[in-house]
Amino acid sequence: MHELALIQGVLDSVAKAAQKNDIERISKIKLVVGQMTAALPHALRFCFEVEKEGNPLLEGAELEIAEEEIVARCMDCGREFHVVELIFRCPDCHSGGVTVIKGRELYIDYIEGE
Ligand SMILES: [Zn+2]
Repeated sequence: MHELALIQGVLDSVAKAAQKNDIERISKIKLVVGQMTAALPHALRFCFEVEKEGNPLLEGAELEIAEEEIVARCMDCGREFHVVELIFRCPDCHSGGVTVIKGRELYIDYIEGE
């Protein structure tokens, strides 16, 4: 599953950050998920719950997910627009020559713990 690999990557980074900052227990992880990653929030949550099992660092931790919309820029007229339903076409000049400038990434916004 795509989401499982993503969550495992996130939890690796979280564990490293916790170690670096002397955090023994994580209470909250805020994740930003671009829609281009095609990761489903409910699947991410499910995988998180599975990975949490038996991990003292994550006991009681909460996962918050913010979805980031896809933003693209037209290479012909320079217009920036939100991509709706994966239609990559400029709403002004109808050019198909667009480049995605936002929504590709999945990253940890912050973690909380003590
Ligand atoms: Zn355009």
